Amino acid sequence: MAKAVKRDLIDAASPGEGPKNCRRCDLWKRATQAVPGEGPRHSTIMLVGEQPGDEEDRRGHPFVGPAGRVLDECLASARLERGQLFVTNAVKHFKWEPRGKRRLHKKPTVGEIHACNLWLEQEIAAVKPMVIVALGATALRALTGANLSIDGARQRELWHPGGARILSTYHPSAVLRAEGDRILELREHLEHDLRNAAKIAAGALV
Ligand code: SF4
Repeated sequence: MAKAVKRDLIDAASPGEGPKNCRRCDLWKRATQAVPGEGPRHSTIMLVGEQPGDEEDRRGHPFVGPAGRVLDECLASARLERGQLFVTNAVKHFKWEPRGKRRLHKKPTVGEIHACNLWLEQEIAAVKPMVIVALGATALRALTGANLSIDGARQRELWHPGGARILSTYHPSAVLRAEGDRILELREHLEHDLRNAAKIAAGALV
């Protein structure tokens, strides 16, 4: 199912084009491969993260590293099945900088987010979700074009021009980076917002 979705989206871009062959910014040069979104074509809920991490870059799938494991735990808590969701990122190639033998995540620039927006919008147009969950500020920027804080945006009603409700929440990696009481706080916010996404998709919450 996921492979068919990816092929549909790439074919819809323009023949022979797609994130795999994209050269719209320089991030492809140091990445192993592009990591497009995955999930059923008509998912009612789409999750949008920032960009592939080290493990996603090597394996070619979104949210399969440490942040993906936190996401899976939060989805289970919200009674959502990952296989029923379309999961993607605002930017399709891994941006990193060397730190010893490690490849450390580096935040994409506004220009890189803008360059990659073609592919995200194409996924949204193909899937037509009812709810899009922006996981973190980069995803929120890609979806709204605005530089909003997650704390502020969580209190606002936002809509994508295509008609989907946008819910803003924290990226699972923020839970991994947090310390002390903030770990539980962020995890609870993330779980709460995912539960709200499920309610909106089920028509139980506007
Ligand atoms: S990050 Fe996006 S815009 Fe940049 S080369 Fe990759 S697919 Fe293209």
